[in-house]
Amino acid sequence: MIYTIPDYYKEFQCIAAQCEDTCCAGWQIVIDKSSLKKYRKVKGKFAKRLRRSIHWQKSIFKQSKDKRCAFLNEQNLCDMYTALGEKSLCKTCRRYPRHMEEFENVREITLSVSCPEVAKILLHKKEPVSFLSFERDGEEEYEDFDPFLHSELVEAREVMCRILQDRKKDIAVRAGLVLGLAHDMQVRIKKRELFSCDEVFVKYQKENAAQFVTEKLKERGRNVKQCYREELQLFQKLYRLELLHEEWAVHLEETEALLFGSGEEFYRQLHREFADWLRRNMPDWQIWMEQLLVYFVYTYFCGAVYDAKAYTKARMAVNNVFLIYEMLAARWLKNERMLDMEEVIMLVYRYSREIEHSDTNLERIENL
Ligand code: SF4
Repeated sequence: MIYTIPDYYKEFQCIAAQCEDTCCAGWQIVIDKSSLKKYRKVKGKFAKRLRRSIHWQKSIFKQSKDKRCAFLNEQNLCDMYTALGEKSLCKTCRRYPRHMEEFENVREITLSVSCPEVAKILLHKKEPVSFLSFERDGEEEYEDFDPFLHSELVEAREVMCRILQDRKKDIAVRAGLVLGLAHDMQVRIKKRELFSCDEVFVKYQKENAAQFVTEKLKERGRNVKQCYREELQLFQKLYRLELLHEEWAVHLEETEALLFGSGEEFYRQLHREFADWLRRNMPDWQIWMEQLLVYFVYTYFCGAVYDAKAYTKARMAVNNVFLIYEMLAARWLKNERMLDMEEVIMLVYRYSREIEHSDTNLERIENL
């Protein structure tokens, strides 16, 4: 079995009570079967509390009114961990913020940016991210798994990451190339012409593809009305997502009012000023965008082996990063044209919490 991890994987360490947020509130924690079995057998002082803090039928931990896990104490520490030790934690708690994507004989482990510590590591990283592989005993065969499609998706993803990490190009051009590549690959998947995907990979690494995308972006930028309308429509689709944290709804309404409430010309001017401010005050902003794009592409793109929606996966990655950028612009405006790294990190992990920790939301955002 092949395992892959990002090169910053070992830098992560949970800071528990020092964490500016907690991963034990806001969402339901599903308990795996073997942990439930273990919890049934617990004896001693803690047993009573354990039994009444689990919703046995739903296999989840009970929560307080403000959606905090029944074991999370006021110091943001887990009472079960303190009473019964690390091994007592269920799989979800033990693994988080590790995220696993599984394929035939391959397990890809990433760290979710919904954890503030992970977001901090990723957004402070200056070098392009690389991914490490190692082998462990064991094999897993999947029924109906298409190894040829999977290998083409893996190759496409490698090319996409290379394009995204080509820092000689503007980040918008890199994102445009990735969309173009995924689009052309999708056509071949539909026509069952996977063997010709290599031509697509070559095409999008050529200089004239970058020139083409640059021209398209300029053309699009000139059509202010269309840009405004499309960006507003995309933004408003966020209201269709399942709400995980109540304050997210307020954040969305406020962001929409700040960005789109004063019309097209204001929107255009705001983005010009924000881009200019970023260039002068946060020169690494294209590096954060690159790290986030690589993160979303790497984590989700190869999942297209199960639904053949390669283009959708690439669009989801680009839309996520674009929406984060829009939210940053709104935050900058709200702060009287100021932004700092803490706010960037907070926005990224909050966005990820809403989007990535609900299967319904992942599916809906794919369909945007
Ligand atoms: S969010 Fe991350 S750092 Fe914070 S408590 Fe959870 S795993 Fe630890």
